[in-house]
Amino acid sequence: MTQGTYKRILLKLSGEALLGQAESGIDAGLLARLAAEVADCVTGGAQVGLVIGGGNLFRGAGLAAGGMDRVTGDQMGMLATVMNALAMQDALERAGVPARVMSALRIDQVCEGFSRRRAVEHLRRGRVVLFAAGTGNPFFTTDSAASLRAAEIGADLLVKATKVDGIYSDDPMRNPQARFYKRVTYERVLQERLGVMDTTAIVLCRDHGIPLRVMNIYTPGALVRAVAGDDIGSLVEP
Ligand code: UDP
Repeated sequence: MTQGTYKRILLKLSGEALLGQAESGIDAGLLARLAAEVADCVTGGAQVGLVIGGGNLFRGAGLAAGGMDRVTGDQMGMLATVMNALAMQDALERAGVPARVMSALRIDQVCEGFSRRRAVEHLRRGRVVLFAAGTGNPFFTTDSAASLRAAEIGADLLVKATKVDGIYSDDPMRNPQARFYKRVTYERVLQERLGVMDTTAIVLCRDHGIPLRVMNIYTPGALVRAVAGDDIGSLVEP
């Protein structure tokens, strides 16, 4: 079923999506494949904003569990997202797509600082905007950053790319009985505590009426299909 093409999307990739076969860091081949998927969307006329997590490198909670101050750990996590965004910017440019990293933390020598007006201008000019450093604040996640930026740029679809085909009642990798949800409301996601995104991110999307498509990033062509409005994966409706 096709619901019409989305013009401006925000794609959330977890840091772990870049891991692939690598033990840590970034799998270069996988990065190139993901960049090609994004490039296909841009070539098809979509404006694409991208938020990449940092979980392949550092997570604040994990560092804090080892005794580190939580805020310092979160700052390291946010810097990890900048590294991933720089890698993706490079891969996109090698795929022939102009891209700009905009960081919520100021690192002027490395990338632009986040400005909503400039971000929208980049998108209008066909550049992929990589929103790095999350929200710029500790105690948040890049899922929350993705919903925040989606609301700010007026994205008409948020896409969360995962390792599984969509939303399940339980982890389908561990529980083969897990039920698959094709369509679900934000209210239900909250009530049943479905592990889609953290609560802050879900509430922000709900309150701003942003639909969320959850799909498997390793399915070739899935992103282009999601942008074309195909009923791929799961849809969370406002
Ligand atoms: N982070 C943060 N504030 C934000 C976004 C991220 O402090 O607004 C930190 C936090 O420590 C988090 C890490 O950056 O664990 C990496 O982000 P996340 O865990 O969301 O990455 P993902 O799981 O998507 O790879």
